[in-house]
Parts: sequence; C-alpha cells; structure tokens
Amino acid sequence: MVDVNKIRQDFPILERSIYNKPLIYLDNGATTQKPRCVVEAISEGYYNTNANIHRGVHFLSQEATEAHENARKRVQKFLNAESSDEIIFTRGTTEAINLAASSYGDKFLKEGDEVILSEMEHHANIVPWQMLRERKGIVIKVIPMNDKQELDMEAYRSLFTENTKFVSVTHVSNVLGTVNPVKEIIDIAHSHNAKVLIDGAQSVPHLKVDVQALDADFYVFSAHKIYGPTGIGVLYGKKELLDAMPPYQGGGEMIATVSFDKTVYNELPYKFEAGTPDYIGSTALARALDYVEDIGLENIEAYEAELLEYATSELKQIPGVKIYGNASHKSAVLSFLINDIHHYDMGMILDKQGIAVRTGHHCAQPLMSALGIEGTVRASFSFYNTKDEIDMFIRGVKRAVDMFS
Ligand code: PLP
Repeated sequence: MVDVNKIRQDFPILERSIYNKPLIYLDNGATTQKPRCVVEAISEGYYNTNANIHRGVHFLSQEATEAHENARKRVQKFLNAESSDEIIFTRGTTEAINLAASSYGDKFLKEGDEVILSEMEHHANIVPWQMLRERKGIVIKVIPMNDKQELDMEAYRSLFTENTKFVSVTHVSNVLGTVNPVKEIIDIAHSHNAKVLIDGAQSVPHLKVDVQALDADFYVFSAHKIYGPTGIGVLYGKKELLDAMPPYQGGGEMIATVSFDKTVYNELPYKFEAGTPDYIGSTALARALDYVEDIGLENIEAYEAELLEYATSELKQIPGVKIYGNASHKSAVLSFLINDIHHYDMGMILDKQGIAVRTGHHCAQPLMSALGIEGTVRASFSFYNTKDEIDMFIRGVKRAVDMFS
C-alpha cells in the first residue's frame, strides 16, 4: 500500500504554491521531485565526506571511495546484475546510450550491419545510432506500431535479416506510456544472434526490472527520473561485452598505466569512467533507490495504475479528447489533445492554475510524425500524486476547453 499523505511529507517542493495555487506536479516523466533523504545525502556528502575518490591514501578519500563503490553495489542489487563490475556510472541515459552505440558500434558493427530501433524512441535512442551510421555505414530499421500504439511484433520479427546485429528499444514510451514486451523482444533478437539495449529511463521508476531475468545485454537509466539527482545515470552491460569493448573516453581513472608509448586501460568498471566521477551523485542515487524500494515497486505500480485509470476515465469524458497511447499494458503517462486546441496553449492555461504538464514533441519527433501530429499535452504521474490532484487537473483542462470554445 502507498500511504500518499505520509509520502508527500518527504517532498518539500510539493508544498509550494504557483500563482497562489497549490502546485500540482504532473511532469514526472521529464524529471521527478526529490525526497528529503536524497537532498540530505547530497549535503551530507559535501559537508562530511567530500574527497576525490580512488587512489587516495587519506581517510576521507577512502570513505568517499567506499560510499561510491557501495552505491555501485546498490545499483547492482536494484537491477539484479550479476556483478557490480557491470554497472558503469554515466551522466544519464543519453550518455549511456552514446557510450554503448559508440564503443560497441565502433568495434563490432560494420558497413551494412543493421540496427533495429522503434517508432516510439526518444531522440536519445535515435541520434547516437544515426551518428554511428555516418561513421560506419550501418543501416537503421524501425519497428512500427499498431493502432493502439503498441509495437507491431509481427513487423518486428520480419525486420530481421542475416545482417541484423543490434536492437535498441525503450522499455516504456515517455510519450505513450506503452510498456513494451522487452523480454520477448530480447528473446527474438537473441535467436538471431543480435545484441539488445533497453532504454529504461521511463521504466525503472515505475516497475521492477531484473536484467538477468530479461537477459538484456545493455540496460540504461537516469537517476533524476527515479527520485535521484541530476547528472548521473547508469549503463548496465554484460561483463563479457563490456570487457570486449574499447573505452569511450580517455583520461584519469580509466587507465592502469600510461607512458607516451603505450597506455594500458583499467579493468571494469573503471575503464568506462574517465575523470572524476560524480561520487556524491552516486551515493544520492543509492539513497533514492533505498527510498523507492522501501515503498516497494509493486506498490508503486499498483498505485500509479489506479491513478492512470482514474485520470484516463475522467479525461475521456471531455468531448473532443483524443488520447495518444492506448496500449493494453501502460505506465502512468497520459498524452492527449482536445479538438484543435494547441498543446502549448493548453499547457500555458494549466500552468496558470499551478498545474505542471509537459507539452510539445517530448524529444520524439519521429513518433509525432507517425501519429501525424506536432505535439501532445502530457501528464505523467508519480506515487506522490493524488486523486484530488487529478480532479483539479481535469477541472483545469475543462476550463481551458471552455476558454477556447
Ligand atoms: N529515453 C527516454 C525514454 C526518456 O524519456 C528520456 C528523457 O526524457 C531519455 C531517454 C533521456 O534521458 P536523459 O535526458 O536523462 O539522459
């Protein structure tokens, strides 16, 4: 059970007023608010244990190193990875995908090799592959959607040829909320000897992920979308793949020895972590994962499903509404348009009522093209949202509709 009143006390920002109205924060897909314990982990880190990590002989450095490496183990446990060497800290999902596309792609993909993406990808899971296409001449293929905005699995199967080497798809769509059948996607890819990266930016905050059960080759996510700090994220990769891949960036930390003639790279995971890592961010991320798992991902999933169902049924009663994302298995995202009201105008009017939603293409322009629209209004929910807030959101939407009619 989610005790939402108790939970809300952990998030001071939720007490804010915007234009003298209580803040209703429904932009959780873009970033989540931070519980007090995460902010405290950041200030405790800077106030008490700050010292650059690794190779330090002094006490503080060793303490900070231990905290950072414990955070890595915390992420390992969270994803159920086999080894903490498989957890690479990055700046976020975007950098994690760039790392995989660049390092794996440069070494293992060649001209004519095919990479399968899907129509519902975030730009972060499109552009790095296009950059690889420019460098290596790979071919990008795209899984289309059915009319419920689910991936067309028959079409997916038919995309494979003997040249298909990699599949990179999102677990949950940031626009549609569609939860993709990633286990099946991975199994099909593996039966064709293709590797798979799963973009978990929108899944880890809402549902339990087990990378070993999925048999994912790579799995990526951002801390800030799961109640953690900005500027840090995770690339999970199977050890044998990461071992075989070249470093992504060069510098300190990622080396064993350096001379002007030859540099020997460090072992995993450090080989992929050039420069001073965000060791304060990693400990704050670990704290966020503790927080989320204390509530329980099963509880979160059940509570958010209730919110989504309620919001969807209320929104559907407004004449002229069109919902984008009607998958059977959906996460707590509600994208819509009403008549010909521009998404931006709707967003502005909601904002004036203290209601924060996101409008626009949501960094998914190819998806917008497939849907034949320029953008949507997107409300995305968290376990700290309430049915009362949804009522106010629906009233706000109705007010906007009245203003335009
Ligand atoms: N992938 C998906 C599905 C997302 O929703 C986002 C962010 O909205 C990203 C990737 C990029 O995440 P970040 O900007 O934290 O790197």
